[in-house]
Amino acid sequence: MNHECKQETNAVWAGEKDYLVHGATQVPVVLSVAYNYDDMDDWYDVAIGKKKGHIYGRNTNPTVQAFEDKVKVLEGAEAATSFSTGMAAISNTLSTFLLPEDRIISIKDTYGGTNKIFTEFLPRQQIEVTLCDTSDHEQMERELEQGCRILYLETPTNPTVKITDIKRMAAAGKRAGALVIVDNTFGTPMNQNPLSLGADLVIHSATKFLGGHADALGGVVCGAQDLVERIYHYREINGATMDPMAAYLTLRGMKTLHLRVREQSKNALELAKYLQNRQLVEQVFYPGLTSHPNHDIAKDQMKSFGGMLSFSVHGGMDTVRVLLPKLKYAHRAANLGAVETTVGPARTTSHVECTPEERAAMGIPEGLIRVSCGIENSEDIIADFEQAFASVEAGLEV
Ligand SMILES: *Cc1c(COP(=O)(O)O)cnc(C)c1O
Repeated sequence: MNHECKQETNAVWAGEKDYLVHGATQVPVVLSVAYNYDDMDDWYDVAIGKKKGHIYGRNTNPTVQAFEDKVKVLEGAEAATSFSTGMAAISNTLSTFLLPEDRIISIKDTYGGTNKIFTEFLPRQQIEVTLCDTSDHEQMERELEQGCRILYLETPTNPTVKITDIKRMAAAGKRAGALVIVDNTFGTPMNQNPLSLGADLVIHSATKFLGGHADALGGVVCGAQDLVERIYHYREINGATMDPMAAYLTLRGMKTLHLRVREQSKNALELAKYLQNRQLVEQVFYPGLTSHPNHDIAKDQMKSFGGMLSFSVHGGMDTVRVLLPKLKYAHRAANLGAVETTVGPARTTSHVECTPEERAAMGIPEGLIRVSCGIENSEDIIADFEQAFASVEAGLEV
């Protein structure tokens, strides 16, 4: 598959044909841990990377490679390497490049697990971490002028869907000589391609939108060949390898990525507009709303605004406790990006690792509800929220 094909065609075909065997039309799940070589010189040549092939499952696997190839093409990257989870992709990538005394600049609103790496694990290794206000581009530019090894971004963010200008920050990062990394899990390659906006590396939790069916864990990093090779080497030794079955499920899920993301984005916009007019709702967070402070940046760098939104309710956690169990068509679960609508309070999902004080510092109300819109009919999703609100409001009047 070449990079000139349209994204919809790439979602279906990229990373497929090179891996087909026995005339099968689908990529096989190769579970074998090791590979047989009758010719000792061939074996050696593959082992030292002189010849294509596989040696041992912790290093490479054909099913896993097919998945990497598909993501690579969708992100317009030279290379991609995969991981057991999104967090493994993030931690291994950071560990590949960061040394004691280095400095990393990021934002306050990264995914909860990523934030823990910044606040708990990196400082322990004498790495200086500076976390800026997510939408304060001037502050980030000022910090970057002081120099750093890595600029780490995530946009839109979890759970308040804040937006950072990738092009502007990537340019500032380059001026500072930093490696610019973007977590594109919420954006998906269908809505946003950070590499084309100047980023050096793009990371996904494949567990979310890429897989799309909440049945496989995975992570992936894409970018220039030399950078990805260094990350791959760190991972092959440290061992956070993606499972072949997870790679297969994600590869299969990705064939419908464009269809799912289109519906999820459409449903999220409609639900966000509906929520804006509900009495019980305090505030709605969605980059597709003109009321979003960085709606214009989102419009410039994204094709559509994605399936994630959040809203806060009057009455905080007490309201959340009665509202969420009333929904008929939503999982109350920690996952996101799946075909089913999934809801949860930030304090039990994305930011469960944080203390209430840490969440408050990040501007996350305790009564914030995160919604990952599924591919159901939006009228049914809205009707479901409508009946849940009505029954809570009726209860409040008594
Ligand atoms: C879920 C998530 C991760 C972590 O991915 P896992 O596959 O759960 O390890 C990282 N970043 C974002 C934005 C996420 O939503």
